[in-house]
Amino acid sequence: MVTPDRITTTTCPFCGVGCKLQLHIKDDAIYQVTSPSDAVVNHGNLCVKGRFGTDFIHHRKRVTTPLIRRQPQTPGGRTQAFDRAAWREATWDEALELVTDRLTGIYAKHGPDGLAAFSCAKATNEDNYLLQKLFRALFRTNNIDHCTRLCHAGSVVALMDALGSAAMSNTAAEVALSDVFIVTGSNTAETHPIIALQMKAAVRKRGAKLIVIDPRRIEMVDYAALWLPLRPGTDVPVFSAIAHVIARDGLANNGFIEARTEGYAEFLASLGPFTPEYAESVSGVDRRLIVEAARMYAGAANASIYWALGIPEHTHGTDNAASLIHLALMTGQIGRPGTGLNPLRGQNNVQGASDCGAMPWHYPGYQSVTDEAVAQMFDRAWNVEPGGLNRARGLSTTEIVGAIGATVRGLYVMGENPMMSEPNLNHARHQFEQLEFLVAQDLFMNETAAFADVFLPAASFAEKDGTFTNTDRRVQRVRQAIPLRGNARADWTIVCDLALRIEARLGRPTAGWAYAHPSEVMAEIAQVLPDYAGIRYERLEGEGLQTPVDDTSHPGTPFLFADAFPRGRGLFRPLEYIPAVEPTDETYPLILTTGRVLEHWHGGSITRNSRLDELFPEALMELNPVDAATTGVADGQPVRVSSRRGTITLRAKVTDKTIAGVVFIPFHFVEAAANLLTLDDVDPRAKIPEYKACAVRVEPLQEAARPSKRGRR
Ligand code: SF4
Repeated sequence: MVTPDRITTTTCPFCGVGCKLQLHIKDDAIYQVTSPSDAVVNHGNLCVKGRFGTDFIHHRKRVTTPLIRRQPQTPGGRTQAFDRAAWREATWDEALELVTDRLTGIYAKHGPDGLAAFSCAKATNEDNYLLQKLFRALFRTNNIDHCTRLCHAGSVVALMDALGSAAMSNTAAEVALSDVFIVTGSNTAETHPIIALQMKAAVRKRGAKLIVIDPRRIEMVDYAALWLPLRPGTDVPVFSAIAHVIARDGLANNGFIEARTEGYAEFLASLGPFTPEYAESVSGVDRRLIVEAARMYAGAANASIYWALGIPEHTHGTDNAASLIHLALMTGQIGRPGTGLNPLRGQNNVQGASDCGAMPWHYPGYQSVTDEAVAQMFDRAWNVEPGGLNRARGLSTTEIVGAIGATVRGLYVMGENPMMSEPNLNHARHQFEQLEFLVAQDLFMNETAAFADVFLPAASFAEKDGTFTNTDRRVQRVRQAIPLRGNARADWTIVCDLALRIEARLGRPTAGWAYAHPSEVMAEIAQVLPDYAGIRYERLEGEGLQTPVDDTSHPGTPFLFADAFPRGRGLFRPLEYIPAVEPTDETYPLILTTGRVLEHWHGGSITRNSRLDELFPEALMELNPVDAATTGVADGQPVRVSSRRGTITLRAKVTDKTIAGVVFIPFHFVEAAANLLTLDDVDPRAKIPEYKACAVRVEPLQEAARPSKRGRR
């Protein structure tokens, strides 16, 4: 029995649930992770990632000193370098001076459009706030984005349009108060396991009815009253058909519609073609299930909707999310505990990074960069001359990648791994090769950092202070538990040091970078982000606070929209069914959908450098037995999967978990990078790529061609 030197309470660095962790420390190493039973988010429960996955902090591959590439890189000739021999160690002063030289040089030559930054949903609110402030206030560009673009951008746009707020309306644990709840486009048991526990308890202990609408027979189907197995990309017809039945059968809440919404008459007229029969013809879902789901949802005293990336990650992802919003608005299933619209955020701080302005169209607080009054406010807040901040929208992540070589010449990547997470990776890699200068700020030499000129070693979540905002808007403390490893530094201190150097080089008046602690950054955030106005570190002891927190005496907000929506009335918007961009055909007869598995997270930078990788060490493609018979693939057999953009090899897992005609591949594995296959077509409004549907071909390989289990460097 080890006696800890100390136990530090902090917040899980993996997913958006935001579980409370207690890190047990001995000799400055984490040897055990527990959680208190009275933790309001997770009640002492942790999934395998939070319980066992934090050993990445001590991994031998961690880079803990600044590195500079020995061989100068040139546009068009840029290469990946994982081998340490390709790099030399540098001091922080040398590395940051080089970054300052090159970024200010590109700025002088190409102006604001020549630079861009990827911020980080794994980093703290304070880290994200400061990086977007640096690029906006000093380089006058709004080209800053992060992985929310690759997950919930469609949900954000649809919710902002319809309600004026993009966050989850209710607390996840309120599922315990729902009589009926819909889970769609969310493999909740694997991606948000602790919320899934609460959902399962609602079904088992309270008899709540669960409706799963998903192409895969995910674990939550075991708990469902109804499962609607739709073909990927047919969300609008299915949810519009549910709306059709609600209206047709007199189940709409006319009082709510009258009092709280607008645009219903036009929307109602648009529902005519969306009969259950039509929806069945395009989605494959039995029309009777659609009718039953409509009656179950609309007839509940309290009904809620939970969704994840299966909804927004389409070229019509904004419409998909809108089709869910319509259900809540026409039934009045919003504005009360146990109801609402709940887009489950993926990474630990994707909500906070978005709140804090790591987005190309918004300052902190979703305040538009094109709104002159807002821009003037930020001019003043950041000591920028009147009119100095850029009034034009910046580029999204996929647009930044597309603009490399044309306008974008220099890129700063804090904690993201776009060389795994961007769609159509062969194209993205070609684009990265055209960069004039690339900075990577990270813990590991991942697939993106290996393209960089300079590597800046960052602190892990256990080596710094800060805050994360979880999926239900709870701002929680992150606390330093162990000393910084080697010469690594907290992201916020790297950004401030760099900002001071850039400011001096450009001759800008200071925008204020002399923070002694992240609590001072949060105090500044509170001045410019209205929903965080009442947040101070001393108020976050215990269980944190759920935004909006209007002032320093405000208790926080468990659920939204009790009396009104931020935009006034909830807005209905008629929708059309727009099929997926790439239909199947004789050459590519199957639909590929991508996603996550329980043991891994996102581009794999962290989980594949932890013992979690031993639990799930290789990519597996799920294939329905019907398709296995058609393609001649046996369970466990190596296969080649090809799309119009690339080819990967991996082993097949023959399972009923995917419906016939659909294959599933997780995107964490560089040895079989699913994003070599995916499309980079984007939703025209949200700019989110179509990760969830593209056409592929599957061919069996002989065992000799079995891919390496350990292809990762
Ligand atoms: Fe961490 Fe999410 Fe697992 Fe909770 S559910 S322990 S936040 S990964």
